[in-house]
Amino acid sequence: MKVCVVGTGYVGLTTGVSLAFLGHQVTCVDLDQEKVDMLRAGRCPIYEPGMEELLAEAAQHLTFTTSYAEGIPGADVVFVAVQTPSAPDGSPDLRYLRSAAESVAQNLDHDFTVVVNKSTVPIGSGNWVDAILRDSFAQRADRPQNCEFSVASNPEFLREGNAIHDTLFPDRIVIGSDNPRALEVLNHLYRPLINQTFTPPSFQPRPDDTTAVPLVSTDLASAELIKYAANAFLALKISYVNEIGQLAGKVGADITEVARGIGLDQRIGSRFLEPGVGWGGSCFGKDTKALIATASEYKYDMPIVQAARDVNQRQREIAVERLQSELRILKGRKIGLLGVAFKPNTDDLRDSPALDIANLLIARGARVKLHDPIAGDRFRREYPDMAPHLSETLDGVFDDCDAIVLVTKWAQYLELDWGKFVGLMRTPIVLDGRNVLDADRMQRLGYKYIAMAG
Ligand code: NAD
Repeated sequence: MKVCVVGTGYVGLTTGVSLAFLGHQVTCVDLDQEKVDMLRAGRCPIYEPGMEELLAEAAQHLTFTTSYAEGIPGADVVFVAVQTPSAPDGSPDLRYLRSAAESVAQNLDHDFTVVVNKSTVPIGSGNWVDAILRDSFAQRADRPQNCEFSVASNPEFLREGNAIHDTLFPDRIVIGSDNPRALEVLNHLYRPLINQTFTPPSFQPRPDDTTAVPLVSTDLASAELIKYAANAFLALKISYVNEIGQLAGKVGADITEVARGIGLDQRIGSRFLEPGVGWGGSCFGKDTKALIATASEYKYDMPIVQAARDVNQRQREIAVERLQSELRILKGRKIGLLGVAFKPNTDDLRDSPALDIANLLIARGARVKLHDPIAGDRFRREYPDMAPHLSETLDGVFDDCDAIVLVTKWAQYLELDWGKFVGLMRTPIVLDGRNVLDADRMQRLGYKYIAMAG
């Protein structure tokens, strides 16, 4: 099928490259010329494992452009995957989506095109996009005859750092539209994924347990709500284990054992029951806020979702309080933070706990040094004021340091030769912000080990 993807960020790029890999003819449109130039040269503008390899394997079916006129005409399906950041009042800022929808409408010429929202948008946005498309299309002097289009929702569930795996071998695919013909087109588009009939890329073998992928084919509003409900649930699972973790610390219980003990119950499941400094990234914070904002439009409170947000913020503050109660005085102390990206295997810094913790420490007069194996360049570009706090080397972080905080669970930090660095520190204190280091081993190496939770 002929596909156009608008927006080549984490979601749009993964969607476009994966669909091209499956054999669809894909044109990716982005307004960012620099991104498009890089992609045309086969280079990936974001850090996402396997993406450059998949770009190479899908190249014959894939085009990158800044021109809607090259992507929209003739497309059976147009995916819109532009950013939807939070506006100051917590509701999503839909400027990019509006502008993309208007540009799509200016270029539609096919007998039937499905315009699919892949961005995470508030419930009701499908109708809103439909209205924008119809208004913009009606204003065209050159609008073609017999050109029909319909809006659908196809929320994205990929995890950054695992984007290709999650797209090719998803737990489920959700499509929503009030037009059965649009659902039929999307069903057809995703057939190879649903039936798993494609040959996987050389670097990403099919998991042993993959059978047919469940398809949830529903109405527009339900598909839109599924995305928010899923993200809010995951967010509250993390906050729940963090809340239990704080209590575990007070009563002398081991949160690792507690999390294992509850996670083995299949009704609960162990994934996302990982205590630590909490979630970050572009989705959980923004989407929980948007869900609450949507509910308030209907005069409905969502205290559970709000509590998950509050607990998450408190974890970041607790990290700083733990350091303060250990060091007594934070003013003038050097604190090293390992990891700037919000999680391993990505260079995404949006709502990263490390940035919040760094700022809380700086506000208390501490000297902060940050390190990240991958996200350093992006950090310098996006946070130029904080760039002097970045250290290229681990020696630069540990040297004369009063405490280290492990913030991001990069493999490099888990496999670190910690014994090599202990002698560099002024006071060898390590706060394990992800509850992943072996406390006994760290103590044997000479560190004072502090856990985030019990
Ligand atoms: P992103 O910021 O990485 O990418 C958005 C891209 O859209 C950018 O390259 C930007 O240049 C481009 N763009 C903006 N306006 C445009 C326009 N009018 N025309 C063409 N291109 C335009 O964003 P992302 O992380 O890929 O997220 C996209 C959407 O998907 C958001 O709604 C997000 O909430 C949702 N989502 C993200 C993730 C994730 O893990 N990142 C997962 C699921 C859902």
